[in-house]
Amino acid sequence: MKDIIIIGGGPAGLTAALYASRAGANVTVIESGAPGGKLNLTAHIENYPGIKEMMGPQLAYDMYEQALNFGAQLKMTEVKSIVDEGDYKKVITSKEELEARVVIIATGTKERKMGLHLEDEMTGKGISYCAVCDGPFFRGKEVAVIGGGNSAIEESIYLAGITEKVHIIMRRDVFRADDYLVKKALNNEKIEFHFKKKPHALIVEDDTLKGLELEDSDTKELENLYVQGIFPFIGLDPVTDFVKDLGITNEQGYIDVDEHMETKIPGIFAIGDVRTKTLRQVVTAANDGAIAGQYAAKLVEEN
Ligand code: NDP
Repeated sequence: MKDIIIIGGGPAGLTAALYASRAGANVTVIESGAPGGKLNLTAHIENYPGIKEMMGPQLAYDMYEQALNFGAQLKMTEVKSIVDEGDYKKVITSKEELEARVVIIATGTKERKMGLHLEDEMTGKGISYCAVCDGPFFRGKEVAVIGGGNSAIEESIYLAGITEKVHIIMRRDVFRADDYLVKKALNNEKIEFHFKKKPHALIVEDDTLKGLELEDSDTKELENLYVQGIFPFIGLDPVTDFVKDLGITNEQGYIDVDEHMETKIPGIFAIGDVRTKTLRQVVTAANDGAIAGQYAAKLVEEN
């Protein structure tokens, strides 16, 4: 039996692994993709204290290496469910059944889809949810970014540095993004804003993405916008389907925790973007991970 299983290897999970293994616990991190989570999809990190600017994937790798240096182990698989057996927990993966005294859920969030016809079919063929991964394919081309939150505005600024032109499509004329980013985007001559417009349909010809049909939020009038790439950044949903039977999620699917990051089930913790909170950032994910990792290691040692 493991002391602690951490599900998810983003900044929250890796920080929990660092703190718990440094405190002497036997820790396994389960991750189904590349360690680092959303850091791997982020071009520049400039608001993590002490690091003035770094590429997201580099910070991800440094966090991963640091956690491993203190003895944490990584297992690449997908978790299907968690079973609460009281003083221990079963973690059912696609390959095997594992047991641990404490489980820390750090599965984060996944990108919301626009819900348009052919969206799945055109993903990877013009539609991308990762500017840093796919932006370079659109060098010299025009792209549309959907949304007015921090992700949309930040990634638009990044894409403006690579592409010919970025069209930002917002269904309202109110930003959710921080003022600092909004000002930067408004001052970027390669970015054009389309306020009060919603994606209505994809324009696809001969299996090639040609653009978007936009609907005016007020008048419902339709217009075509011809672009070669579409980057939807319209929000995130928590990855908690696999724990829905445990009764630890709220109406939106996020997990409620106490000040130790423990859910209402003793020995099951939740940290990072997957938990109910107001500020979802690398630094707050690391904060959660430190608190849960340290406390979980103490619980294991005492029992
Ligand atoms: P947000 O929820 O903050 O913003 C989503 C945007 O998409 C809003 O403009 C929203 O419009 C729009 N939207 C939602 N649904 C639709 C739809 N169906 N059609 C068209 N537009 C739609 O999501 P983000 O992914 O930007 O951010 C998630 C969290 O991560 C936030 O807490 C954010 O602050 C944080 N973050 C922080 C960063 C940083 O600080 N550097 C970087 C990236 C993310 P409306 O306003 O009308 O609802």
